[in-house]
Amino acid sequence: MTQDAADLAQLLRESRRTVIFTGAGMSTESGIPDFRSPGGIWTRMQPIAFEDYLTDPAARRLSWQRRLEMEETWSTVAPNTGHYAVAKMVAHGKASHVITQNIDGLHQQSGVPDEKLIELHGSTRYAKCLDCGTRVEVPQILAHFTAHGDAPDCAHCGGLVKTATISFGQAMPEGEMARADAAVRACDLMLVLGSSLTVYPAAGFPVQAKRQGAGLAILNREETPLDRHADLVINAEIGPTLQWVIDAL
Ligand code: NAD
Ligand code: ZN
Repeated sequence: MTQDAADLAQLLRESRRTVIFTGAGMSTESGIPDFRSPGGIWTRMQPIAFEDYLTDPAARRLSWQRRLEMEETWSTVAPNTGHYAVAKMVAHGKASHVITQNIDGLHQQSGVPDEKLIELHGSTRYAKCLDCGTRVEVPQILAHFTAHGDAPDCAHCGGLVKTATISFGQAMPEGEMARADAAVRACDLMLVLGSSLTVYPAAGFPVQAKRQGAGLAILNREETPLDRHADLVINAEIGPTLQWVIDAL
């Protein structure tokens, strides 16, 4: 490994409370395309804005059609070396929290407990009524969608049901934002893994960490707009790098 990886191990050794912040790059080694890389999800499909989901039945059908097409992927993907390295850091008390922008549920699956995990953009693993918040399981909705061509309304209140992800134009979840804020306030090192750090307000958390005097380390394939504020930038693959780093701790 490079000197950079040794430097990251040293920063982690010196830190008493690290917060890990992850993006779509965390899951590319599991075979889930990231956001902006060539061939990534959004170069192929336009995202559906929240307003359109609320007002346009065709947008809702398109959204569920896409979710149906992704079902095989979601039910077969597995955490990768990087996810397990992160889970190990949490289990050993090295990282206090994982703040993720990912909606894939792979941090949970790798063993990060719910109280240590903050999913800023929600999860595609389940759905929720937009009015009363009742949780609805995705397979149940997909079965209805396949039979009737649309998703069922909420069984309790008749409200619209949507995957529990945060769409463009949808408000950020207050509880998760508050938990992330508290975690960042208490950290002395923020480790960013696989995020282009261009999606706000999520990318505001590494900025906040730096501003309050915590260290900032970024492990990402390519450069990010926050590199110049970071104490350490490593342009490498997450899985092998992080595995080496935790073995060196
Ligand atoms: P992004 O796609 O904007 O950035 C990902 C970054 O990770 C890129 O800079 C890329 O170079 C880097 N990267 C990719 N694979 C890597 C690897 N193996 N090792 C090191 N670096 C790697 O992602 P973002 O910053 O998370 O923003 C995208 C938005 O899209 C988020 O809001 C997220 O909710 C959503 N999204 C989620 C998933 C998911 O849940 N897995 C996938 C795609 C998009
Ligand atoms: Zn409801």
